[in-house]
Amino acid sequence: MMNAMNSKLRTALLTISREVFEPFLALKELVFPEPHRVTLLEKLALARKGAVEAHVADPITDAEVIGFIHELSEKMHLKTPKIVLYHSDTKQQAMHINNNTVALGYQKIANSTPDELRATIAHELAHQHDNSVSLAVSIGRVVLDWGAKIGCCLLAHHVLKPTDADPSMFDKIKQNAASIFAFVGAGPLTQIATEAPYAAFRRQQELNADATAGKVVGYDAMESVLEKKIARDQAETTEYPPTNRKKWVEHIEHYIRTHPSFETRIAALENLEEQAKHKAQR
Ligand SMILES: [Zn+2]
Repeated sequence: MMNAMNSKLRTALLTISREVFEPFLALKELVFPEPHRVTLLEKLALARKGAVEAHVADPITDAEVIGFIHELSEKMHLKTPKIVLYHSDTKQQAMHINNNTVALGYQKIANSTPDELRATIAHELAHQHDNSVSLAVSIGRVVLDWGAKIGCCLLAHHVLKPTDADPSMFDKIKQNAASIFAFVGAGPLTQIATEAPYAAFRRQQELNADATAGKVVGYDAMESVLEKKIARDQAETTEYPPTNRKKWVEHIEHYIRTHPSFETRIAALENLEEQAKHKAQR
């Protein structure tokens, strides 16, 4: 059904679902966790994160991968998460979805060395540490965003309140139209305003997850995962040259991206590796 759907409509539906349903689903799954099933929220999260064609399969059956998951969650003092597999043509090949669930793309498993796979899993597991904080921040962001939108709407409604005891039809229409206009106009602004600090928080969490993974499986393995991503991006750029984009679009994207660049992440890991070496020598 998804395939037949027009892509613009699909994007619109995903955006609406993210804004409206996700906070409720997140709350529901917090209160009634369903550990053995791929929940609607997980499917939505996969879809939103670009794996729209995602086919969520049963929990992983590959013995080696399961071995890594158990080994690493024990090392990191975490409950072993549920891992789901998905098919995707998109770049994201491993992700932390929500409480106790990690998704791995089939390609990721096929293209990784055992050390890289361990590093990838360790990175996703590291997100488990921050999970409740992330969920709270994510819900907070939506509440703030919608609070501001509704606030603008109520403000316009209040400011344009007719002063007459018996207001004309025109005054009433004016008041309501202005409220709707304020709500719609505030939409993209509050979206970006709340997305930027949220994204900055997410970028810091990525660096933290890399650091934790590096400590557990070795910095070299984590760096190698990121270097592979750079190589893949470079191969893609030669295959499909990037289209010219406006500067301001790039600026906005810079502030709302949830992941630091691979180069930044590698530099941070190299820094930590240096520090660890110094500590060991002392
Ligand atoms: Zn991550």
